[in-house]
Amino acid sequence: MVLTEVTNELQTMFDNARRVAVLTGAGISAESGVPTFRGGGDSSIWTWRGRPVTELSSAELIASNPTLVWEWFDYRRGMLLDLQPNAGHYALAQWERRFEEFTLITQNIDDLHRTAGSLNMLELHGNIWRARCLRCRSTFEARECPLEQNPPLCLACGNAARPDVVLFGEMLPEGIFERAEEASARADLFFVIGTSAVVYPAASLPIVAKQSGAKVIEINPEETDISFLVDVTVLGKAGEILPQFIKERG
Ligand code: NAD
Ligand code: ZN
Repeated sequence: MVLTEVTNELQTMFDNARRVAVLTGAGISAESGVPTFRGGGDSSIWTWRGRPVTELSSAELIASNPTLVWEWFDYRRGMLLDLQPNAGHYALAQWERRFEEFTLITQNIDDLHRTAGSLNMLELHGNIWRARCLRCRSTFEARECPLEQNPPLCLACGNAARPDVVLFGEMLPEGIFERAEEASARADLFFVIGTSAVVYPAASLPIVAKQSGAKVIEINPEETDISFLVDVTVLGKAGEILPQFIKERG
């Protein structure tokens, strides 16, 4: 079913849900001014100093030139500095407080869900404001932008650190995906919001939810690779659709 707004039927599904899981992608941050990879926006930022993002954010480059990777991340961090969460992020932070169980699974690294007040979050691809030691693997906040020391040094052992972000050619952090799968399998209602659903394994989570009996609702201005599987696609912007579920009804 394809809709363009939250209907009474959809509202009833939402109100009756007990265990909710949500997967978000770059699209939920689009209205905050964060460029997406696909589906509109300014794609020119995905090439920097003549190199494509797939080369800049790669396991190969972190091994050979972590300083250059940090320079690229500093450039991306600089673009995020003044951005704020939008109505979609804030709505999800409120949703969390309404359900018996609520898990927010995000592919985003921009930290805007946390800024908006979300608590129970699984960041599948890490966080752009965190660093991880290349030797002892401990993680720490690294919010300075631009960095004074590049690469930043580990607070525990003094070794060079890297961005705590999943790069092209790397596995997801241990345990996180398993927790996301578990939450997806337990959910009775699953939302997939602002993701083109082509990056695996994240894109398999709505499938897990569906196979475990959840109703799956997609929110995206465009149909995606996952639209064929979902129960409902709501065509629209996250910032406009998500608050509709919790607006006061007279
Ligand atoms: P994507 O760029 O592949 O797809 C974005 C999707 O969002 C598209 O389907 C598009 O139609 C939709 N969209 C655009 N505007 C929207 C809006 N206002 N409301 C709802 N949906 C909207 O993003 P992806 O699926 O997350 O995959 C990209 C990968 O790149 C991820 O692995 C992610 O880690 C990374 N990434 C992260 C960020 C971020 O942290 N904000 C930004 C870009 C890319
Ligand atoms: Zn260390």
